[in-house]
Amino acid sequence: MDRIVVIGAGQASAWAVNTLRQQGFPGEIHVISNEDQVFYERPPLSKQVLSKEATYESLNLFKRDQIDQLSITWHKPDHATQIDRDNKLVVLESGKKLPYDKLLIATGSRARVPVQKWNDLNNLFTLRNVQDCERLSGVLEESGKLAIIGGGWIGLEIAATARKKGKEVHIFEYGDRLCSRSVSPEVSRFLKDIHEQAGTYIHLEAKNLELNESVNHKIIVDDAKDIVAFDAVVVGAGADIAKELGTESGLEVRDGIVVNQYGQTSDEDIYAAGDVAIHPLLGYSIQSWANAQNQAISAAKSMLGIATEYTDIPWLWSDQYDYNIQILGTYQPEKYEQLVIRESSETQKSFLYLDEHKRLLNVIAINDSKLIKLAKRWMQNATVLEPDQLSNSDFNLMKLKP
Ligand SMILES: Cc1cc2nc3c(=O)[nH]c(=O)nc-3n(C[C@H](O)[C@H](O)[C@H](O)COP(=O)(O)OP(=O)(O)OC[C@H]3O[C@@H](n4cnc5c(N)ncnc54)[C@H](O)[C@@H]3O)c2cc1C
Repeated sequence: MDRIVVIGAGQASAWAVNTLRQQGFPGEIHVISNEDQVFYERPPLSKQVLSKEATYESLNLFKRDQIDQLSITWHKPDHATQIDRDNKLVVLESGKKLPYDKLLIATGSRARVPVQKWNDLNNLFTLRNVQDCERLSGVLEESGKLAIIGGGWIGLEIAATARKKGKEVHIFEYGDRLCSRSVSPEVSRFLKDIHEQAGTYIHLEAKNLELNESVNHKIIVDDAKDIVAFDAVVVGAGADIAKELGTESGLEVRDGIVVNQYGQTSDEDIYAAGDVAIHPLLGYSIQSWANAQNQAISAAKSMLGIATEYTDIPWLWSDQYDYNIQILGTYQPEKYEQLVIRESSETQKSFLYLDEHKRLLNVIAINDSKLIKLAKRWMQNATVLEPDQLSNSDFNLMKLKP
């Protein structure tokens, strides 16, 4: 094998390329990126970078000389427009045609704006990349009043950052609770409480939002109950998975590109990892930092013939105000038999969901990373747990053997 081509230069791409070289791949690596800044992490964009506690440089996964040592042939800024599977070529917007022996699709996802005409509003923002963050952080300094459309993780993090800066923040959520796709009603309530305590206004069931621009570029939000003017509106209404290259080239695609546990698509020479790919055990895309990194590492090794399964239990985190929120496992209400709440202090609390055999399915830990480490072992080993011990904050959980 002489040449590996990677589409995208985000987190999954970075870890894949690094792994290929670490494993001794001597051939050509070509990376196509439609962004100028490459190989950077996005989570701080809605947290420390937006609040200006961290710089854009701190996002970089590797130092300049480390990237040089990877001996990459860059195609940037450029955009992959087509995969010609018959001739094993990637076609670029610039007109280049890149042959590949193996190809990795690591195109991630894009911020979704649910109503097309909202894109024409001057002070409407999304947050997916460095440019978005630069625009948004500029306006955040100047605005007094901010509307956030979407009560998911990114919307809540932006709300927390803006509140810390003393802005008036209103969240408009279509559903009847926050983060409803990824957490239970109890956790949604917890999230609502911490935001309301911090002074954020939360408008649930905001189903018929109308957005219009006033003469002074304020955005008038009409939620069918109130009509309020905002200096800026941020849309955090989920992501569109950038799977079109997979669909158009005839790969098997569901909500993400379908891959097996080795990251291999329905074409044996094409792999996919990160937001654009499904999680092989769950069958849908997990949009998280850990997933992008670990699925890419496994795909890169597997491309080189070192078959490496990726079957990680999904894990993600969010930081809001003084709360570090970590989620292990997925929200599966149909399988939940029992909820155990462990509360060690006012700011340290966890929600543990057990199945009918008292095995852990899902944990949401607030300011408790130790619990997450233990829970991972319990879940991997299908440990049978005692709810009384879990809920007793005086009981040392280290005593529970995985
Ligand atoms: C603001 C924000 C906060 C987040 N916070 C958290 C968090 O707290 N915890 C957590 O676990 N996860 C978080 N995430 C999610 C996490 O960052 C993503 O899951 C991760 O970045 C996915 O990595 P990826 O490599 O799959 O995609 P990306 O990092 O999106 O990289 C894909 C790259 O491919 C490029 N590209 C797409 N199509 C083409 C093409 N045709 N040609 C060339 N280039 C192309 C894109 O422009 C992009 O640069 C956050 C995401 C965002 C946006």
